[in-house]
Amino acid sequence: MDFELSEEDRMLKELVHKFVEKELMPLEAEVLSREAAGKGWGLGAEEHVRLDKISKELGLWGLDAPADIGGSDLPSVSMIGVNEEMGRTITPYTLPPDSPNLRMLMATVNERQREAYLAPYVRGETISAIGISEPGAGADPSAMTTRAERHGEDWILNGRKIWISRAAEADFTIVMAITDKEKRARGGISAFLVDRNAPGFKVLRRIPMIGGAATYEVVLEDCRVEGWKLLGQEGNGFAPMQLRLGTRRIQMAAWSIGMAQRALDMMCEFAPQRVTFGQPLSERQAIQWWVSDAATRIHAARLMTYDCAWKLDQGRDVRLEISMIKAYATEMAWEVVDRAMQTFGAMGMTKELPLQLMASKIRTMRIYDGPTEVHKWVVARNLLGAKR
Ligand SMILES: Cc1cc2nc3c(=O)[nH]c(=O)nc-3n(C[C@H](O)[C@H](O)[C@H](O)COP(=O)(O)OP(=O)(O)OC[C@H]3O[C@@H](n4cnc5c(N)ncnc54)[C@H](O)[C@@H]3O)c2cc1C
Repeated sequence: MDFELSEEDRMLKELVHKFVEKELMPLEAEVLSREAAGKGWGLGAEEHVRLDKISKELGLWGLDAPADIGGSDLPSVSMIGVNEEMGRTITPYTLPPDSPNLRMLMATVNERQREAYLAPYVRGETISAIGISEPGAGADPSAMTTRAERHGEDWILNGRKIWISRAAEADFTIVMAITDKEKRARGGISAFLVDRNAPGFKVLRRIPMIGGAATYEVVLEDCRVEGWKLLGQEGNGFAPMQLRLGTRRIQMAAWSIGMAQRALDMMCEFAPQRVTFGQPLSERQAIQWWVSDAATRIHAARLMTYDCAWKLDQGRDVRLEISMIKAYATEMAWEVVDRAMQTFGAMGMTKELPLQLMASKIRTMRIYDGPTEVHKWVVARNLLGAKR
């Protein structure tokens, strides 16, 4: 058994580390002051263009996209180090294209969709969103009620989606809808490519979330979608959707490791400097145990995440591992960031340090793409052999 990263993966991780240190970290003070002033934490257009140019020149675009459309075709294992490094900063920048919808498109597109949707997405020319959640169906997407019905060559979609990230900015949203009410998740849910300007696709409202984020509520009112924009096979949308969710969950585990590592590094730098009652904090067992627990749990999360990614690259079924790492790594990072905030005292409560943004960001990550309790339930159900 070899636990060393390959030379290529080590060099890639190092490259992303430098990009984060040199280009993203220096923007944090500005991001924090914007967020503190209630202006959100998004990057300005100029900042975005500059970062896009640099990351593209460094060869960091399309890392896990197909080589024949300009990507590097890297396996999941290679992406762990990339996402761990990206997770260290609160500057909100994503290396294009974002992996989850990429993977879903790669698994489903036909030739025409490949040209029209996948290729521009890989080239970083478009932004996408995913519409799964509904007011009455969140953790349990099989309870969705959005319907898609055939009208001649086209499909007509009716329903309501909520908590949809990027819905207003996205060039297209992958909308999940019921095409067979009886079969539902077992052959009755399909995926559709819905353009921003599709008739009947309406973004109702922007919902500010903690962690500087925002989601949208979307209504589909007799939304007409051309027949060729059905993604994959009719009724078989649930499996590629799960593939997409799995990709995000592994990515979230890696981000969590990066975030927790940053919080631990901050704690280790601060604790020896801060003296209370005549002794540095680093001499106190309470703080030492936080440091020790954090390092141990980060190590465990990292090994588990690499193990999961490696098994996925071998074509193995990793649904159980994905639930384990999504729940474990996000909860671990939540605890480590909280302890770092406690170590910093009042300073940890300010909007001058990144810790509070890290905390609210990781707080949302304990919910989206499946709340912790649901992933634990999946693991337990699997072990106990219970059928749904
Ligand atoms: C920042 C953010 C971005 C998001 N972006 C998107 C997006 O782009 N697209 C999209 O479709 N959705 C998105 N979502 C929605 C997200 O996926 C859902 O919020 C999530 O699946 C949970 O659904 P819910 O909020 O309806 O909670 P519910 O399903 O109502 O669950 C509420 C709580 O009940 C508990 N619970 C539920 N089921 C069980 C169970 N079986 N066992 C034990 N406890 C249980 C959990 O504690 C859970 O937190 C986003 C959410 C957030 C916070």
